[in-house]
Amino acid sequence: MTDRILEFLDARRREGRDCGPCLVLDLDVVRDNYLGFAKALPDTRVFYAVKANPAPEVLSLLVRLGSCFDTASIVEIEQALAAGATPDRISYGNTIKKERDIARAFALGVRLFAVDCVAEVEKIARAAPGAKVFCRILCDGTGAEWPLSRKFGCAPEMAASVLECAHRLGLAAHGVSFHVGSQQRNPRRWDGALKAAANIFRDLAERGINLQMVNLGGGFPTRYLKNVPAIRTYGQAILRGLAKHFGNRIPETIIEPGRGMVGNAGVIEAEVVLVSRKSEDDPLRWVYLDIGKFNGLAETADEMIRYPIRTEADGAATAPCVVAGPSCDSIDVLYEKEPYFLPVSLEIGAKVLIEGTGAYTTTYSSVGFNGFPPLESFVI
Ligand SMILES: *Cc1c(COP(=O)(O)O)cnc(C)c1O
Repeated sequence: MTDRILEFLDARRREGRDCGPCLVLDLDVVRDNYLGFAKALPDTRVFYAVKANPAPEVLSLLVRLGSCFDTASIVEIEQALAAGATPDRISYGNTIKKERDIARAFALGVRLFAVDCVAEVEKIARAAPGAKVFCRILCDGTGAEWPLSRKFGCAPEMAASVLECAHRLGLAAHGVSFHVGSQQRNPRRWDGALKAAANIFRDLAERGINLQMVNLGGGFPTRYLKNVPAIRTYGQAILRGLAKHFGNRIPETIIEPGRGMVGNAGVIEAEVVLVSRKSEDDPLRWVYLDIGKFNGLAETADEMIRYPIRTEADGAATAPCVVAGPSCDSIDVLYEKEPYFLPVSLEIGAKVLIEGTGAYTTTYSSVGFNGFPPLESFVI
């Protein structure tokens, strides 16, 4: 929460324009986050994960600050280009790409691609001849609040043959990538992945192929209800891991922060639509907001991300509530397994502020389930 965001919301209210729900994102916080990453890992290039929040103002600020961009589709590549990024600052980091999209990215000038199997290497060799590829390895998401499962990456033992195939097909076998799981609260989780990466570097060196780059992925957390370590703690742990596993042959490194770049820059203003109980003597209140899983808060799936919710009655007595969204789908319940403590005096019509919502909210909002519009967004 920043004063600029509060002033913006106040001004809108005074003008009688408070409709909501809406996200307000403060670019000063994004700038601070970028500078924090650059300071914590001074020799590492930053590739902002565009999917976290592709607002044009965010992308052009990051272009001005010197950031590069991790993209997952042609539209994201075009968004980064439109913000002023040159194609040499764009990575096509999705391991799952149509061959015609690879060709389109290549035509737009993109030369850096992610792979995790031979079939994807073959597509790139055909559609983007001579490009650089890095192989993503599997990483178990222990310690992450939003783990990324087994969908991306191959076993480290397989990565060497994937990269060797790339080399054979005329591509530049450039390096190794991993992602330790989003909202990773344990800085030591990079160590094991760095060890696996160093083994792949050695294995390929023995085959005459010199890899250059380790992509350290995203995973840097933002603060929700629980405290998280500072970004410099992550930087120190990563630098230690690099020295430990690569010795004096430290490779080029990049990071791909998404949540850590924009999460704490955003606040959603929402409204209480209904407060009710399921029976006369049920102590548990149900608090229904005008925002839910389909118009911005998809990351409450399985109650994984628990956002701080501020109300005007904060400080007064609280009681546990089920918090739910406004739509007619029964999965649109935000917190129930672990009820959420909200003020007893919270009433219908009250405004609430949901903090830490700069990442993965506007992009996860549906085009209009039940007629609820996509999440409105203001960048200040
Ligand atoms: C989503 C994603 C990121 C960003 O992850 P955060 O946890 O938000 O930092 C980085 N790299 C890749 C390949 C991704 O898919």
